[in-house]
Amino acid sequence: MIGWRRTERGTPVQCCYCRKLLAARLAHRLEPEPRVLTAVGAVPMKNIGWFCSRRCVDDYESHFRVILEPEAWGAVEARLA
Ligand SMILES: [Zn+2]
Repeated sequence: MIGWRRTERGTPVQCCYCRKLLAARLAHRLEPEPRVLTAVGAVPMKNIGWFCSRRCVDDYESHFRVILEPEAWGAVEARLA
């Protein structure tokens, strides 16, 4: 669904639960950009990272018995800058 293929550039960003490849982290940005990732269903969570979908967030929370806090894509971009 995310449709991002492994790239030679940057560091791979994977779903924290299912490990699906979501993006590449370059010097000061993600490719695709955070707003694009969230538009296709990916979810950034504070202090953890990206999940490919709300379903993986739910599975992670029940598996590890934690409640994650969402992070806005704008905040992710600000942190990368
Ligand atoms: Zn996932």
